[in-house]
Amino acid sequence: MKYYILFGPPGAGKGTQASSMVEKYNLCHLSTGELLRKEIAAGSSLGIKAKSLIDAGELVPDEIVEDMIKNEFETVKDVDGFLLDGFPRTIAQAEALDKILAAKNEKVTSVISIMIPDELIKERIKHRAAIEGRADDAKDSTINNRIKTYHEKTEPLISFYKKAQAYKEVDGTGSIEGVREKVNALMDKF
Ligand code: AMP
Repeated sequence: MKYYILFGPPGAGKGTQASSMVEKYNLCHLSTGELLRKEIAAGSSLGIKAKSLIDAGELVPDEIVEDMIKNEFETVKDVDGFLLDGFPRTIAQAEALDKILAAKNEKVTSVISIMIPDELIKERIKHRAAIEGRADDAKDSTINNRIKTYHEKTEPLISFYKKAQAYKEVDGTGSIEGVREKVNALMDKF
């Protein structure tokens, strides 16, 4: 089983690239943001707890997303691997993932990182807000806090995975097709 992490700041195009990658490589797309939005739409107690944090641009507690990921690993069958999108987002989550995988005699196959500068993050998120209508894409204060949270809590994962020699980066500033070609070229190496 392959365990890929699609890494990058909010608005880098992870979800967009993920949809073609899952088809091409027979992977299960696991987006913790998507799973949380489903919980919110269903009005579950977890969703209610997560909503105020998501709307403020804060992260939900590590245990919540770790449990979600564990559960998906156990229930999804008939794929060649998983494509994690938006997880891990903290060093604690990355360590938890390593433990979950070690218990299965597995490890992270590779981290594919799509990088864009902060100014483009805002532009991309505003563009997406008009199309997808996500509440956390609509407010400037939420977007700014998501960028701050990314730099403070998620960016340290780059050196975490560089040390594990699992980290590959592509420039995410080009067209969707251009970025897709670069991502596929990396994926074809594994
Ligand atoms: P995303 O769809 O990946 O942009 O995630 C939307 C929001 O869901 C984030 O801004 C966080 O509030 C929350 N979220 C998603 N994934 C995680 C995670 N791995 N850890 C903590 N919070 C998360």
